[in-house]
Amino acid sequence: MKQERVDVEGWHNVMRFEDPDRGFLALVSVHNNNLGPGLGGCRMRAYDSYEAGLEDVKNLSRGMTYKNALAGIPFGGGKSVIFGDPHKDKTDDLFEAYGEAINLLAGQYIGAQDSGITTDDLRIANKITPHLVGIPDEQGRGGNPSPFTSYGVWKGMKAAAQTAFGDGSLAGKRVAIAGVGAVGMGLAELLHGEGAELIVADVYEPALAKARSQFNATVVPVEEIISQNADIFAPCALGGSINPETIETIKAKVIAGAANNQLTDIKLADRLAERGILYAPDYVINAAGVISVGLEWLGQWEHDALITRLDGIGDTLSKIFARSKTSGTSTAVVADRLAEEIFLNLRA
Ligand code: NAD
Repeated sequence: MKQERVDVEGWHNVMRFEDPDRGFLALVSVHNNNLGPGLGGCRMRAYDSYEAGLEDVKNLSRGMTYKNALAGIPFGGGKSVIFGDPHKDKTDDLFEAYGEAINLLAGQYIGAQDSGITTDDLRIANKITPHLVGIPDEQGRGGNPSPFTSYGVWKGMKAAAQTAFGDGSLAGKRVAIAGVGAVGMGLAELLHGEGAELIVADVYEPALAKARSQFNATVVPVEEIISQNADIFAPCALGGSINPETIETIKAKVIAGAANNQLTDIKLADRLAERGILYAPDYVINAAGVISVGLEWLGQWEHDALITRLDGIGDTLSKIFARSKTSGTSTAVVADRLAEEIFLNLRA
């Protein structure tokens, strides 16, 4: 296994690991470790270039620093990416190599699942390294964080609806979901159960078929989901869906979804506010999964206590919305300042 430190100013430690014999190339990034070891998922993706993967792991690990701080868990921000197509390139060798790479960080980073990675993949790596979470114990506690993330996003969406529409009920609301994968599909189920009307888009036909048949969702092309005539837009695929090209096309009054790094630039949050669109900061609304795996790592995972804690995501968002309104600062900046007060020890 070849390992090499990648110098990135402002990041605690970024490492590149490579083992060509096993088709393995990965980056592990710890952005900040003031609150504890870097905790965050592993993403597998066929990146267009090495630089694209580096950019992704940097941004995602930075986001985890903020997310973990605001979620109130004792971890810094970490993330890893494996270069490869999750539908074609997975082998046991690959995940064993991943386990070896994580061991080389000697506990600086604790990995979990993210887009493209399943619990079964982690189980293979877990034979090699203990520094992984999101794997249920013999009693079935902990494990796959995605259902909890769906639950947290649903609760956060209700808090946003309360602020934007004066009513936290989502019954009868039109919700456009971009990406019905692990989190988006769980969210669709919860929303359908509450009586919301669903519009969905995905690049994976079987997921669309399921959303259509089980949750009566209307399917639209991927490039049209953001501009649907909906009350709420829920980005649940990859990041960057809100960018200078798409921002003016949004018709929804609320943006509340699971994807990380939804805005290509935090300044876009000001434009959303100007347009009267309430933005639920991504790392606040999607924190449930990391809260679950963080408690798992600490040996404190308990289902009912977790659910009570996840209900608090809505309260955190309500506080951010209120502060944004009184300060005239975007919700994204308010969230960042609150997180920085925690991880930079700025609290008086
Ligand atoms: P996933 O891979 O299971 O689902 C993503 C879905 O998006 C897939 O169905 C994929 O086909 C679809 N997709 C890909 N490109 C698309 C496009 N251009 N338009 C529409 N759909 C597209 O991943 P997931 O675990 O559901 O995570 C979704 C997002 O939420 C990611 O950004 C992830 O980082 C974030 N997130 C996930 C968790 C979690 O617990 N899984 C926690 C926090 C944040």
